[in-house]
This record gives sequence, C-alpha cells and structure tokens, in this order.
Amino acid sequence: MYRNQTKEVRIGDVVIGGGDHPIAIQSMTNTRTEDVEATVEQILRLEKAGCEIIRCTVPTMEAAKAIKEIKKQIHIPLVADIHFDYKMAIAAIENGADKIRINPGNIGAKERVQAVVDKAKEYNVPIRVGVNSGSLEKHLLEKYGGVTAEGIVESALDKVHLIESMGYDNLVVSIKSSDVLMCVKAHELIAKECPYPLHVGITESGTVYSGNVKSSVGLGIILHEGIGNTIRVSLTGDPVEEIRTAKLILKTLGLRKGGIEVVSCPTCGRTRIDLIKLANQVEEMVADIPLDIKVAVMGCVVNGPGEAKEADIGIAGGIGGEGLLIKKGEIIKKVKEEELLDTLRQELLNWNK
Ligand code: SF4
Repeated sequence: MYRNQTKEVRIGDVVIGGGDHPIAIQSMTNTRTEDVEATVEQILRLEKAGCEIIRCTVPTMEAAKAIKEIKKQIHIPLVADIHFDYKMAIAAIENGADKIRINPGNIGAKERVQAVVDKAKEYNVPIRVGVNSGSLEKHLLEKYGGVTAEGIVESALDKVHLIESMGYDNLVVSIKSSDVLMCVKAHELIAKECPYPLHVGITESGTVYSGNVKSSVGLGIILHEGIGNTIRVSLTGDPVEEIRTAKLILKTLGLRKGGIEVVSCPTCGRTRIDLIKLANQVEEMVADIPLDIKVAVMGCVVNGPGEAKEADIGIAGGIGGEGLLIKKGEIIKKVKEEELLDTLRQELLNWNK
C-alpha cells in the first residue's frame, strides 16, 4: 500500500503509517547495548542530528535489562533488535522496548514465536517483521532459483501471516537486500499486498561513500513511488552520517521541510579560494541553525552572484584575499576571505531579526 494507506502504528510517541504521518528516520547504535553510558551517549548524538527512532541490538539478558536504564536517559523510541533467542525479545519488552524487531524464521519453534507475540500483545508493543535477502529459506531459494524479490516478499508475508494467525496485527514489515534494484522490486511487490507500514533500507550498502549512493538511489526510487513509512540509511561509518543522509534524501524528494540547504559550485579554473574546504565548513556550520532557506557557496565573482540568484544568501570567493556576501543575487559587501564563514554565520543567526 502507499504510505498513507497503511495501518497506523505507534512506536512510543512516534506514529507512522495511516493518514499523513511523516516518514520517520531511524538509525542503529553500534555500541554494546550492555554499556549503558556509551549507548546513551551515542543515542543523544543521534537525537541531536535528527534521529527519530533508535534500534539497539539485544543479544544478552544484560542488554535486555540495560534497555530500562537507557530509556530513562533518551527521548526517542527504542527498538530492540532480536535474533534467535525468544527470551531476549520477551525481556526487551518487559524492560520497556517500544518495538521489537524479529525474524520469526530464526526464533525457532512456533510456541516461541507465540510467546513473543503474547508478550507484545500484553504490552501493546509493535513487532517489526524483518526479512533479509541473506536469510531466505531453502524452499524459497529452490522455488525461485536463488535469491529473488519474489522470494523475499513471500518469506516476509509468510511470517506476517503467521503472526496474524496468532491474533496480532500491530506490525511493521521490512524486507532488505543489498541489491538495490532487487530491493526496489521487492518493495513494489510487497506494497501491493501488505497493509502494514514498511520500514525501508538498503542493507549492507557499504562505506559512507557507496552506502550513501546506494541508499540514495534505492530509497529515492522507493520513497518516490509513495512506498515506505520509516527509513534507515545503513553505512559502515558513524551512525550520525546515516541521519544526515536520510534527512537530505527526504528533503530532496520534497518529503520533508526545514533546515538550511547548502548549494555550492563544482569549482573550475576560475576558483581562487579553497572552496571545497569552505563548502564543507558551511555545511557543518549551518547544521544547528533552524532556518528553512537556501545558502550558496560559490567559487568566484564572475559567475558566483548570478549562479547564486536562486539562493537566499551566499558567499563567493574573490581575488586578492577578498570575497563577497550576496543576497538574492545582489552583492551586499566585500569581506576578507578568512572572514567569509563567520560573516555568513552572523547573517544567518540574525536572519529574522
Ligand atoms: S561559480 Fe565561478 S568558480 Fe564556481 S564553477 Fe562557476 S565560474 Fe567556476
């Protein structure tokens, strides 16, 4: 189903699906969940960056118990990620997890899945049914001749039907593949049959560079087709980078407003300043300024002001150690090159005064 036609699901105080709830940005901690201090520190950094739902792995009973302490110190819903041991899922729910993520296929006997479902029902905690291309069952691999989008979808729907047959429909579904086009096809297929919100991500997408590209392409297509209620950009890197990318994907697709958009020129033979460094500094500098405007960082005065016309404000490099402050394409004043960044920041901080 399209994202605004799915069932509504509440994860802590974040609601997804149904009507027009915004697409929520998720990430996952890479600390040991048992280490409450390190996990809280990372979650608070992610919150500051714009993370709206956090997932933590729960591989031990100590980790399940840590959820209680972690939850006291954070401000966003926490999802417990469970593999294999149904007792961890039960303990995670009892310790305050706002959602659990399981693959019923690796939880084991039906009675164990039933025990998890019963506990989720008792606490009214949603279950995310997660299936990865790497964990596809043998009979589906044989039926479809290997890992296919159809196989991933059938695997996920089998598990959804299993939980429905146990009397629970407070569900979110995720199907992931590191093959971007397979992932897109799988989402198109499952969206036709699944009434539950979908959590979308490209799994094992790689380092910051390749993960950003694969996630932007994959999530970009899927979200643009109207599919997906929560997203995660998976990167082999600092999870804060995942949030930055996720926010920009949503903003680029027009699915989210707010925040300063930085545009910068590609540089050319006319550039006389270290524009690459300056553009990166500007991007970092504007991150905590709550304005919804466009800022241009241009390399030169020849084309800079003209090319920056569509921006609300901008700076351009010059010659002889001077640059320009520009508003709506008009040159406002000359500024010493080393003061460009500070001048821009002051302008932004006083934008509405
Ligand atoms: S703004 Fe100037 S430096 Fe940047 S690409 Fe255009 S001409 Fe080159």
